[in-house]
Amino acid sequence: MPDVDVALATAWLRAAADAVTADADLLTRLDSAIGDGDHGANLRRGFTAVVAVLDGSEFAGVGDVFVRAGATLISKVGGASGPLYGSALRAIGKALPPGESADLADLARALRAGLDAVSKLGGAAPGDKTIVDAYGPAVAAFEDAVAGGAALPEAAAGAARAAGDGARATTPLTARKGRASYLGERSAGHQDPGATSTWLLFQALADVTAP
Ligand code: ADP
Ligand code: MG
Ligand code: MG
Repeated sequence: MPDVDVALATAWLRAAADAVTADADLLTRLDSAIGDGDHGANLRRGFTAVVAVLDGSEFAGVGDVFVRAGATLISKVGGASGPLYGSALRAIGKALPPGESADLADLARALRAGLDAVSKLGGAAPGDKTIVDAYGPAVAAFEDAVAGGAALPEAAAGAARAAGDGARATTPLTARKGRASYLGERSAGHQDPGATSTWLLFQALADVTAP
């Protein structure tokens, strides 16, 4: 069985949609504290549209799944998170080799390309209290696990743990990007909504790959 194929990609995105829908209230509560309170609704709307695209499409290549999902998020989500996550998914899809499946090293490279896309579009550095603070550690953990010979379930679980740790570590930080940065030091003491949703997305990958 290939590690990363169309079935895995679609299962991950469906699980991601379930996760952001189930935890939309949490994301909204976090965004109400330091933003405008729409992060849960933004991601629920975006990923619901992604699932509709998955339902109505056949995909020749695993990369196409991510490219289509990314384009859907960009077109359906008005907030900052839509273009950021959409660009990440598009970059992941474009970085994967053409064809029905890819291996774990390919996925590690693709996840890194997604992080690079977020950094390039949003200009956030580690410690700026953004998506990058969960996504960065998650990719590093995934790469380390793959380099050490881990299989996908173990690599995904490690990435999800690192994303969760990274999200929690945003709490004391002062936001330097996005709406929360308008609050200056008053943004400290609250966990970043986008870092939290990044954790949900990696946890969804861990859940669908768990043995
Ligand atoms: P908006 O702020 O436009 O309402 P959302 O509420 O959907 O958009 O998303 C807010 C989240 O987006 C923040 O919690 C933060 O993690 C993330 N974010 C905002 N700006 C950036 C950026 N420049 N780089 C990375 N992530 C960012
Ligand atoms: Mg918001
Ligand atoms: Mg908004």
